Amino acid sequence: MKGIKVDLIVHNARIHTMDDEGSIVEAMAISDGKIVEVGPERQILNKYRSDRILDAQKKAIYPGFTDAHGHLFAYARQKLGVNLFGVNAWSAIMDSCIQHSKANPRSFLLGRGWDQSLWGNDIMPTNASLNAAFPDIPVALYRVDGHAVLVNDCLLKKAGISDKTAVAGGKIHTENGRCTGLLVDNAMELIKPILPDYSNEEYERTLLEIQDELLSFGIIGVHEAGITQKELSLLRSLNQKKQLKLDVYAMLTANPENLAFAQKKGVFQEGKLSVRSFKLYLDGALGSRGALLKRPYSDDASTTGILITRMDSLQYWMKQALSVGYQLNTHAIGDSANKLVLEAYKMAYDKLPDHRWRIEHAQVVDPADWHLFRDHVVFPSVQPSHAVSDQRWASARLGKDRLSGAYAYFSLYKTFGMLALGTDFPVEPVNPFNTLRSAVLRKDKNNYPNQGFLNQEALSLALALKGMTIWPQFAAFSERSRGMLQKGYEATFILLDKPMTDSEIPIDNYALKVFIQGQEAYGVD
Ligand SMILES: [Zn+2]
Repeated sequence: MKGIKVDLIVHNARIHTMDDEGSIVEAMAISDGKIVEVGPERQILNKYRSDRILDAQKKAIYPGFTDAHGHLFAYARQKLGVNLFGVNAWSAIMDSCIQHSKANPRSFLLGRGWDQSLWGNDIMPTNASLNAAFPDIPVALYRVDGHAVLVNDCLLKKAGISDKTAVAGGKIHTENGRCTGLLVDNAMELIKPILPDYSNEEYERTLLEIQDELLSFGIIGVHEAGITQKELSLLRSLNQKKQLKLDVYAMLTANPENLAFAQKKGVFQEGKLSVRSFKLYLDGALGSRGALLKRPYSDDASTTGILITRMDSLQYWMKQALSVGYQLNTHAIGDSANKLVLEAYKMAYDKLPDHRWRIEHAQVVDPADWHLFRDHVVFPSVQPSHAVSDQRWASARLGKDRLSGAYAYFSLYKTFGMLALGTDFPVEPVNPFNTLRSAVLRKDKNNYPNQGFLNQEALSLALALKGMTIWPQFAAFSERSRGMLQKGYEATFILLDKPMTDSEIPIDNYALKVFIQGQEAYGVD
């Protein structure tokens, strides 16, 4: 038999290598989970032989997608609790809660996904009807963005929260001298110590369901944007049982437990799991008016938002990150928060030019501050589907003039040269084709708005694909082994059933097959 024996040959394909030239090749040979060679059909078929041959029938192959900002555990909790995503009336939210607790009787009720901007009046809810329906068990319903929670009086009482409770970097909503049950940003921390939780078995089962869902969309890696030690041990347990197929780049929430882990273990790599970063929140979210703005909100002149982490605390975490060799990934949404982080990161740049520290979201950045991404080499990690979802109210919050620096992905790309794209799931759907469509067309699934929202900030399809393949690998220090289809790279790739162009990106799922390190991890026949 002639030819070099390999584990797998893929041919008759349009393989997007994601190199700088945008090369597309026809075939590749794979052994031991890695790409041995890519090239023209005849070159590969003449040189190699294999028992496993995949004829791609001229379909497109890309490196597997990475979601550069998602929340596996928040998604698991959303699936285990009552799902309020997209529910368009408060009365329907109450119905869902009552039905869910009948079908899943527990000593508590947790839920996630409500969004008052879908109820026709954009007024934040109060807990009166929750108290009537659930007088005896604790109830906590998280807003879609995870930056506000509505809790019932039973839970307020257990947590010892009253209208007199003071909180820095957060807000306890009150009405006529009594708590309405709405807790924003740091006020949510007050319920954490007494919040009931699901069992390890429930988490593991649900995480595996989520993994299957992500793989079915061609997602092979997630940057998990902030976990606790308990959550890390659940991921390690799945990893040790060889059940973790996704590459999980887990950011540790900035807290003392996680710092102790980092000091003990340093840069940590275990199977599919990689830990070498801290996640910090500088401000809140725009929808709940927690994003820290330079000037007051256009639809609420009484506030400029919330600084969740004090600047001395940011400085502290920057020093800790440098001392353990970790990356720091700071959530900043408002233009003031972004400026504060961009300027603070100069310290990292001065000490370590290739620090790759990130700003998560970079959602509203004053154009006068854009240059700081380049000057201090700050990696923007953005979520294009937020632009399309937030267009309903973003101009109300910000006013017209501030929109020029909002969701400005093309400008950020031009300034820095790379972008990591994610979804912030479960805030947005995991569907990567929705992310591509939002980034390139800036339209929702119903083609709204016709011209695209702030469409001067649209990315080309080629840039958006880099933002979901090779650039997230840069943002996670793994660009030398993952994210491209080139000799020596991991043979982790997806086969798509439909072509995409700069003017047409269908939103349904058209990932046909997913290979991880040369092994089929998902496939439809
Ligand atoms: Zn997030």
